[in-house]
Amino acid sequence: MPEIKFYKHENIPMEMHKVKIVQKLNLLPVKDRVKKMDEAGYNTFQLHNGDIFMDMLTDSGVNAMSDNMQSAMLRADDAYAGSETFYRMNKKLTELFEMKWFLPAHQGRACENILAIRFVKPDNVVVMNYHFTTAKAHITRLGGLVEELVIEDGLKSKSDLPFKGNIDLIRLENYLKENKDNVAFLRIEAGTNLIGGQPISYENMKEACKIAKQYNITTVLDASLLQDNIYFIKVRENSMKDKTTKEILRMIADLFDIIYFSGRKFGFARGGGILVRDEEMFHSMEDLIPMFEGFLTYGGMSVKEMEAMTVGFDESIDFDVISQAPQFIKYTVEKLDKYGVPMITPGGGLGAHIDAKEMLKHIPQEEYPAGALACAMYICGGIRGMERGTLSEERNRDGSERLASMELLRLAFPRRVFTLSQAEYVIDRVKWLYDHKELVGGLRFVHEPETLRFFTGRLEPTSNWPEKLAEAYMKEFGEDQ
Ligand SMILES: *Cc1c(COP(=O)(O)O)cnc(C)c1O
Repeated sequence: MPEIKFYKHENIPMEMHKVKIVQKLNLLPVKDRVKKMDEAGYNTFQLHNGDIFMDMLTDSGVNAMSDNMQSAMLRADDAYAGSETFYRMNKKLTELFEMKWFLPAHQGRACENILAIRFVKPDNVVVMNYHFTTAKAHITRLGGLVEELVIEDGLKSKSDLPFKGNIDLIRLENYLKENKDNVAFLRIEAGTNLIGGQPISYENMKEACKIAKQYNITTVLDASLLQDNIYFIKVRENSMKDKTTKEILRMIADLFDIIYFSGRKFGFARGGGILVRDEEMFHSMEDLIPMFEGFLTYGGMSVKEMEAMTVGFDESIDFDVISQAPQFIKYTVEKLDKYGVPMITPGGGLGAHIDAKEMLKHIPQEEYPAGALACAMYICGGIRGMERGTLSEERNRDGSERLASMELLRLAFPRRVFTLSQAEYVIDRVKWLYDHKELVGGLRFVHEPETLRFFTGRLEPTSNWPEKLAEAYMKEFGEDQ
């Protein structure tokens, strides 16, 4: 968004859109929230949306659509095979990415499944800046391993570095030199999801792909969060500031053999797909689409969503559109940082991230401090965030707990959804919780699924801390808040 200047007032981020359709929100009294949290097994994924005031779980499939996206849905062409909607979508993607071959899939993780089946053999390694939960689960399901080479600063919560999602080029070169025959592909995630939505620079992607090509390694871009990353490249990477967002997208696309995305984020609708540069490589994956997703001209997506997404792709590189979430996140992160709350800095894309390991030092990692903070945040304000820490990890092959490098509570900012007063409410409640942090206790599993346990697992508090926390909250704000 071109920054709007104020006359008397300090500048604040502005919404470059107006509200046309609304959804009423419901703020349950705190006592009811304690009950709902218990019923949900202390897992915010298990809460019902109607019991939530601010749903900041994710940016996936919950971004606001534009009038143009909604009107495009009316022209959706329903056909099992050969839908005109598919050809329109394909044409738009080719225009933006200049990659000829496209495989549709129902969402981002479906692309990860297809790529893993095609490329990963037992004990193969996928080298990456950092993993994403579902990307890793599909790789390890087939006996593969991941090697994460994000720069050291990427895993520190406080930093001034503009691109904390960068891959360590020296370690990449060394790793490929020694293990090239065992590497399935290089996966670059732009921007990172699990370590604070931190972006990766164009320069770093370029060098990483150059090294991979030297060793004949296939390069894959996870473009699910690319819209945020393009914004950060434009505002933080000096050599790129005069490029248009469209030019930046093309320069990035030119580096990779394969690009996949979640259309629930990139494109602001619901779906996904894989773009492939090489015809033979495309054919080597083609038959997996009808087997797992749907016919090759819809891949499990609704044609209405595909039409919306086709418009959404253009909005994903509209600077006014893609500026809003990062600017709201920056505003939130900077205010909370001033209050002393340990935030991941600088603010990235996707959401504001609280360092739960730092904030809740009294809770050992084995008792899931970030998961506990997520529960506390729901109780203290009806705000639903997502744990991004040890709970979101899988256990090691020997069954031992794999402690995450970071314990984060993510408060996502779905694009074009919240107003600044709602952001202020969140800031206020996080500050209150920070001032009462010693009241938060740990969690333990009651039911622990083997894979992706954070989605469906059930937990319980290690003491009656949720009730005590709610009592303190009621004392401050009254029973009806
Ligand atoms: C969300 C996400 C995915 C998975 O996409 P879904 O559509 O939710 O399956 C993959 N990679 C990244 C970086 C993501 O943020």
